Amino acid sequence: MDLELKEKVVIVTGASRGLGAAITKYLSDEGAYVLAAARSESDLRSLQQYNDKRILPVCCDMSVKEEVSGLADMACNEFGNLHGIVNNAGIAPAENSLDSEIAVMENTLKVNVIAPTIIAKTAARHFVNKSQRGSIVNIASTSGLKGKASLASYSSSKGALLRLTESLAAEWARYGIRVNAIAPGAFETSAQAAVLENADILKARLRKIPQRRMGSPEEIAPMVAYLLSPISDFVTGACFVIDGGEVSKL
Ligand code: NAP
Repeated sequence: MDLELKEKVVIVTGASRGLGAAITKYLSDEGAYVLAAARSESDLRSLQQYNDKRILPVCCDMSVKEEVSGLADMACNEFGNLHGIVNNAGIAPAENSLDSEIAVMENTLKVNVIAPTIIAKTAARHFVNKSQRGSIVNIASTSGLKGKASLASYSSSKGALLRLTESLAAEWARYGIRVNAIAPGAFETSAQAAVLENADILKARLRKIPQRRMGSPEEIAPMVAYLLSPISDFVTGACFVIDGGEVSKL
């Protein structure tokens, strides 16, 4: 199926590894140009080797507003236009909420909510100024659907990202800008290292998932591509859960 993503320009944050790297590769395979943002320069350089004509690595710290606010302009300057955003960068600090510093919450909100908001707003201004349609995909989490113990900052931030998705979708539909979210369950990335490296914890974790496995990063990318594509033009304000059945059985 032609997703009509050829020559389209997309920003993917958190592209240096995990879900973001898989999404970047998939979009470049579809013929899109990808501005791939993260902090780790060496990981981004390796990713660029996958398709150096279509992947542009950009070092950017999502907790620094000044760095984040320049990404949309950078994509336009480098590739001549901008069509889509994938707000994927995220952190999930494990915390004991009785003792954890408020700085944990502040930093999590900066990376998981404020940065996606800034990128969405700067991209939307570009779409409106150019009178063109645009698509924004926010990578949330099933932890944003319900609060989870030891993840107060993370669950709060992903819940906020889901409400942000709905609000912006409702507000910007009149401009032809679509905003959707994906809520992954457990995926095999470095974010799950503590689970993957301990056989007992992993066994207990998999028991909660009807398919008895974690997702692989490549299983997120096609849904992202669908949401960026004009073929999903009537889809906005939605959240797609990809979790091997974990949420549906609760
Ligand atoms: P990951 O392997 O830990 O990768 C996180 C990505 O975010 C990296 O590319 C990292 O790049 C980037 N990042 C983190 N902090 C950043 C900062 N301050 N500035 C710029 N980039 C930053 O995580 P993942 O599993 O691929 O997760 C991707 C997204 O999916 C996240 O939003 C996560 O919450 C969500 N998610 C994941 C799972 C899962 O099970 N894996 C489940 C639900 C939701 P640098 O370190 O190079 O900056």
